[in-house]
Amino acid sequence: MTIFRNLINGEWIVPHEISRNVSPSDTNDLVGEYARATADEVQQAISAARAAFPAWSRSGIMKRHAILKKAGEEIMARKDELGSVLSREEGKTLPEGIGETVRAAQIFDFFAGEALRLSGETIPSTRPNIGVELTREPLGVIGIITPWNFPIAIPAWKIAPALCFGNTVVLKPADLVPASSWAIVDILQRAGLPAGVLNLVMGRGSVVGEAMLDSPDLAGISFTGSTSTGKRIAASSVEHNRKFQLEMGGKNPMVVVDDADISVAVDAAVNSGFFSTGQRCTASSRLIVTEGIHDRFVAAMKERMGKLVVDHALKSGTHIGPVVDDRQLTTDLDYIEIGKREGAQLAFGGETISRDTPGFYLQPTLFTNATKEMRISREEIFGPVVALIRVKNYDEALETANDTPFGLSSGIATTSLKLATHFKRNSEAGMVMVNLPTAGVDFHVPFGGRKKSSCGPREQGRYAVEFYTSVKTAYTAA
Ligand code: NAD
Repeated sequence: MTIFRNLINGEWIVPHEISRNVSPSDTNDLVGEYARATADEVQQAISAARAAFPAWSRSGIMKRHAILKKAGEEIMARKDELGSVLSREEGKTLPEGIGETVRAAQIFDFFAGEALRLSGETIPSTRPNIGVELTREPLGVIGIITPWNFPIAIPAWKIAPALCFGNTVVLKPADLVPASSWAIVDILQRAGLPAGVLNLVMGRGSVVGEAMLDSPDLAGISFTGSTSTGKRIAASSVEHNRKFQLEMGGKNPMVVVDDADISVAVDAAVNSGFFSTGQRCTASSRLIVTEGIHDRFVAAMKERMGKLVVDHALKSGTHIGPVVDDRQLTTDLDYIEIGKREGAQLAFGGETISRDTPGFYLQPTLFTNATKEMRISREEIFGPVVALIRVKNYDEALETANDTPFGLSSGIATTSLKLATHFKRNSEAGMVMVNLPTAGVDFHVPFGGRKKSSCGPREQGRYAVEFYTSVKTAYTAA
C-alpha cells in the first residue's frame, strides 16, 4: 500500500513512523497509511518555509492568484472523490463530505480573488509636505494547526489566505484525519507552488505540534481545536512574541420562544444538534425553550429524532454518521451518564447502536429537564448529545443563553421581529442566527467567537487579512 508522505521543501519525505487512518464507519476500512513527522523534520519544514519566504512574498499577485485559482478548480472537479475520502476518514455523511469539499474549493477561489484586491491607503500627514502610506505585508512563516472535525475546510480557510497574502506555511493537520490535508497539499504543489512555500508535517500534537510551538522562527500560528490546546498555543506564542489566532470550543445555545414556528425550530435544532454527529464547534448542544411551547417542541423533536438514520457515512439515506473514534465515543457516553446522574431526563437516545460494519455508532441523544448549572449544559461534549433547559420567558432564555464561558455561535427561533432584533444585539456570541441552525456559515464573511471560544482576529472573508498581514506606515517628505 502507498504510504502518504510529508512534504518538506518540495520533497515527499520517506517516513520514520506511520499512522493508520481508519474509517470510524468501518474499522476494517483502512483509508490509508500516513507518515508521522519527527521533531527534526518539523524544524526542517520551518527552515524550508523560512528560506522560501523572501521570494514568495515578492512573487507577485498574478502568480499567487493563478495557483490558488488552479487549486480551487481541481478541488471542485474532484469534489465527489475528495468528499468520499473525507467522509471515510471523519465519518460525516457523504453529502456533508462533498459539501465541505465544495466549500474548500470556494475558499481557494475567493482568496485567488483577494490576492488581486489587496490595497493600501495614502493619507495626508499632520505635518506639511509629508505623505503617509499604509501598506500590508505578509508576516513570514505561518504555522497552521487544525482539528479533526473539518478535515478539508479548516486547512483550506487557513492555507488560502496565508499564501494569498505572501506568507509561507507549515501545516500540521489532526492525526486522525490526514488524508484531506494531504490531498490539498498535493493539489497546491502541483498547481505550481515553489519548493518550501507550503510544507506538510502530519503527526501527533504532542510531537509535531509541540515542535512547532518551540520554534522561534514561526511568525504566526493559526489554530483551531480545543480550548485546552489553545491555551498552550497562546502561552508559547506570548513567550516567542508571535502573532496567534485561536478558534476553540463552544456550547452554543439555541433559544426557542413561544411564538416560534415549530417546524422551523425543530429543523434548526435537529440540524444544529445532530448533523455531522454533533461534532461541529458551532453545534447547538443547549436548547433553551420557553414554557408555552416546551411540551409541543419536545414532542416534535422526539418524533423527528425517531426518523433520523444513523449508519455508515457513505450509505445513501444516512442522516448521521458515526462518532469520529472510540475516545470521542467514550467521552459522549460518559457525558450521557453524567446527565443521568445530574438528574436530567433522558428523553431520547443515549445508547450505542450496531450496524452492518464495526463502527462508533451512537443514537442522537436528548436530555430534557436540564438546568443551566449541570455539566451537560456547561461543558462542550462534541457529540450528538443535547441538553434542553426549560425557562419561563424570553428574558430568562437570553440570560441562560449568555450564561456560559463560551461565545461562538447562538440562535433563536421566533416569529417576532422585536425579539429577533433584541437577541441579535444582546447575545454574547460572535455569530448569531435567526430561524437558522447555529451551525452552517458562509465562506465569504467573518467567522469567529468571543469569550473562551476565540482569541485574535477573525478568520475568513475579507477579515482574514487582519491576521495574515502586518500593516506598515511609511512617511515620505515631499
Ligand atoms: P485538539 O485541541 O485536541 O487538537 C487540535 C490540533 O492541535 C490537532 O492537530 C492536534 O494534534 C494539535 N495539538 C494537540 N496538542 C497539541 C500541543 N500540545 N501542541 C500543539 N498542537 C497540539 O482538538 P480536536 O479534538 O482535534 O478538535 C476538537 C475541538 O476543536 C473542539 O473543542 C471544537 O470545538 C474545536 N473546533 C473549533 C472550531 C472553531 O472554529 N471555533 C472549529 C472546529 C473545531
